[in-house]
Amino acid sequence: MECQKLELSEFERLAESIGYTLLSDTYHNNYTKIRLLCDAGHLVTIQPKHLKEGRRCGECVRGIR
Ligand SMILES: [Zn+2]
Repeated sequence: MECQKLELSEFERLAESIGYTLLSDTYHNNYTKIRLLCDAGHLVTIQPKHLKEGRRCGECVRGIR
């Protein structure tokens, strides 16, 4: 669906803007978790909603590098 593609590309830009790499190539909705690689190389599984709200990689938050 067009709107899903739009959401995914919008999300990809958001991820890139914070140095994250989007691994998932599908986007279902705000609540379906997607996979990203954070700027420190951690695998991040997060709900799109949370990333938009400013939540970041849990491992980086805890200071593990
Ligand atoms: Zn991290």
